Amino acid sequence: MNLSSLTIPGARAAVQERKTTATALAESFYRKIGKDDPQIGAYLALCRERAISKATEMDALAAKGENLPPLGGVPIAIKDVLVTKGIRTTAGSKILGNFIPPYDCTAVARLEAAGAVMLGKLNCDEFAMGSSNENSAWKPVHNPHDLSRVPGGSSGGSAAATAAGMAVAALGSDTGGSIRQPASFCGVVGLKPTYGRVSRYGLIAFASSLDHVGPLAKTVKDAAILLRTIAGRDPMDSTSAELPVPNYVAELDKPVRGLKIGVAKEYFGQGLDNEVRNTVEAAIQKFAALGCEIVEVSLPHTRYAIPTYYIVATAEASSNLARFDGVRYGYRAAGVRTLSEMYRRTRDQGLGAEVKRRIMLGSYALSAGYYDAYYLKAQKVRTLLTRDFEDAFTKVDVIVAPTSPTAAFKLGEKVDDPLAMYLADIYTVTANLAGIPGISIPCGETTEKLPIGMQILGKHFDEATILRIAHAYESSRQSSVLSS
Ligand code: GLN
Repeated sequence: MNLSSLTIPGARAAVQERKTTATALAESFYRKIGKDDPQIGAYLALCRERAISKATEMDALAAKGENLPPLGGVPIAIKDVLVTKGIRTTAGSKILGNFIPPYDCTAVARLEAAGAVMLGKLNCDEFAMGSSNENSAWKPVHNPHDLSRVPGGSSGGSAAATAAGMAVAALGSDTGGSIRQPASFCGVVGLKPTYGRVSRYGLIAFASSLDHVGPLAKTVKDAAILLRTIAGRDPMDSTSAELPVPNYVAELDKPVRGLKIGVAKEYFGQGLDNEVRNTVEAAIQKFAALGCEIVEVSLPHTRYAIPTYYIVATAEASSNLARFDGVRYGYRAAGVRTLSEMYRRTRDQGLGAEVKRRIMLGSYALSAGYYDAYYLKAQKVRTLLTRDFEDAFTKVDVIVAPTSPTAAFKLGEKVDDPLAMYLADIYTVTANLAGIPGISIPCGETTEKLPIGMQILGKHFDEATILRIAHAYESSRQSSVLSS
């Protein structure tokens, strides 16, 4: 079986039809991880015992001829910001280096209830802060398409493991692009749902009003299956929406003819690499060929998105990360004499440079005297950015844009320049500020054979339409590859 091209329906069918067993499938993934991951660095922990126990359960069902659940026997891996009972969960940080959570996050619980086999936990930037995975306290992740390049971040391990066939698919988190940008750098599909669509219970918080849980997968259909599994109201997350979850998979093949695709000039401005621009523009022409109408829209406040995001995100982070104090769980500095020395030394030794930078920026933005000038102002601009989308969506069904201004950059290229790193998020952060859903799908490659991603943004809770349009594009691309 070719693990690199295995999809969710493919893996499930193989187990259901007894062409393999879920146990053998999990073992082949572990062998591949053992062989390939030393070069890539996607995994931080493996949970073989738990995987084999779930696989055995699925094999027993298949042996009895019973229908497997939707993810029956499918090997999936999880970003290390999602807590897993009894399995070390570090969020890429030393301060959680010895943290064994006492409970499962809702997204993982739902995947396993649907029969998924959890292989292990995936590397990421510390507390999901970063765009290259180089802020992981443990090790960098290398892009499977070119090991000298970053996989993107912060869900770099999730994107790299999926692209390299070291998991059929993965879960990631997206606070300002962390699912979509690594998906685009690694040539896979990444979906950030609407805020409230997927429970955040058990997601280690970075910025609670911007954090989202979502899938990374090889195909749009796989992303649709995963979203349907993890979505829906959860009493453990009061911000999760009470709305019914559509059958995204059943809607994938509905026609796209006549749908209106918005294109905003603000997403094609300065700083956009020419190859990325040309590829995304060619993809937009493809939508016209599929019978969609291309409509120009304007998102006039877009240039304020990065500063607004980096105020709101750091402010919330400074508050969320106050809990890591060495008292209740996680790392505690040794040899300290007073309480305040324990706090200071624990946080100094346990947190990395980028995390400290953000705690300081956020504390500053929230401090008396600066609150109105920065935090309050950013909240007002956030409303304007949201209204930009609301206005645009009165005219169009979706908006198409590049996911990232460039393809994957080199490891080390931006580590000493945080501002340059922040600018890599220019096209992704607004969807988080507005809470709208967005998907990144592969749409071509550079002359150096690096993947290029395109982003499709939709209306609140309208994941069905972005998935449908993404699926239509993906199918048309595959048929043109097959016929060429
Ligand atoms: N790159 C962005 C940041 O560093 C987004 C991170 C994320 O989505 N978790 O904040």
